[in-house]
Amino acid sequence: GTSPSRRYNIALLPGDGIGPEVIAVAKDVLNFAASLEGIGFDYKEMPVGGAALDLTGVPLPDETLLAAKESDAILFGAIGGYKWDDNPKHLKPETGLLQLRKGLGVFANLRPATVFPQLVDASTLKREVAEGVDLMVVRELTGGIYFGQPRGFKTSENGEEIGFNTEVYAAQEIDRVARVAFNNARKRQGRVCSVDKANVLEASILWRKRVTAIAAEYPDVELSHMYVDNAAMQLIREPKQFDTILTNNIFGDILSDAASMITGSIGMLPSASLRESGPGLFEPIHGSAPDIAGQDKANPLATVLSAAMLLKYGLGEENAAKRIEAAVLDTLDKGFRTGDIYSAGCKRVGCKEMGEELLKSIESHK
Ligand code: ATP
Ligand code: MG
Repeated sequence: GTSPSRRYNIALLPGDGIGPEVIAVAKDVLNFAASLEGIGFDYKEMPVGGAALDLTGVPLPDETLLAAKESDAILFGAIGGYKWDDNPKHLKPETGLLQLRKGLGVFANLRPATVFPQLVDASTLKREVAEGVDLMVVRELTGGIYFGQPRGFKTSENGEEIGFNTEVYAAQEIDRVARVAFNNARKRQGRVCSVDKANVLEASILWRKRVTAIAAEYPDVELSHMYVDNAAMQLIREPKQFDTILTNNIFGDILSDAASMITGSIGMLPSASLRESGPGLFEPIHGSAPDIAGQDKANPLATVLSAAMLLKYGLGEENAAKRIEAAVLDTLDKGFRTGDIYSAGCKRVGCKEMGEELLKSIESHK
């Protein structure tokens, strides 16, 4: 037979709850789609979250972080569960994910919000507003008010308690995430809307200045600016106007959650966390869903679409990514739905069967 012409190392971190179920499907789909483009993978499956706590006593073992750092890309499931809910903070499964993001230095978080034509009615917005929405939030992930110094508590001169945080951005922190957004826009509709509060905040004034400067490197990409209050309103009023939204850590946190609700289906939304070089982290935005774990009910499409992002943004393998995206659309077209996206007249399937249908679709489009 013909041997694959390109091989990549993938760190596979299934985690807890439905994590292993959705990762199993995504791995099969990734393998098949990529093999048709002459791509092969070597996987290293490692424990993280609650699974790692049970095995090793910590949520992110050194070996797991090392395997992630040495890989070409990381596919992550989900972590957490009732079993570890009462653990102290440093022994919570979720701490493993924060440590992983920090250890990898992934400073740009990409979250698409796509309203699939077959699932328009799942949107919280009216059909005519929701139809055709296809935007991407690029959120700065390692700076801003969540990390800025000084921070803390103190007592004022008149004895009152004060809590304080500081919004801090250095020019290079803005430049690097801006470049991720502009590169991303090139793979989409070529438009970046930078969101800030430059009418009030100094860090936002610098943000706007740096983003404008970086835009000069991308003459083919159209740049606009919007204040965050207006952006929140526009996102609900007319979300179709957006292609790529570039914003800081705290605004991105809020806007990306709002954008995901426009689509109405948590089981459909992937994400990527990137840096300029080094492996990216790809994961569904949903959690470990302990209420449905082990019942073959999970929607694997968010993780399958995360695998497509891994190909596109992590490895630059856009053709293989397109095969996966096409299979998702085709499978939805045929009416297959897991419980979370089910509507009358559709064919209800479990996690595994959804995976089998995706493979059939990829096979039929060889
Ligand atoms: P996090 O770990 O981010 O705190 P959470 O506990 O807020 O997550 P999830 O674990 O994402 O929330 O679950 C929220 C709800 O959505 C649950 O009822 C869960 O069953 C459902 N859900 C989440 N992901 C999926 C999926 N892939 N398929 C079907 N249902 C899902
Ligand atoms: Mg949870």
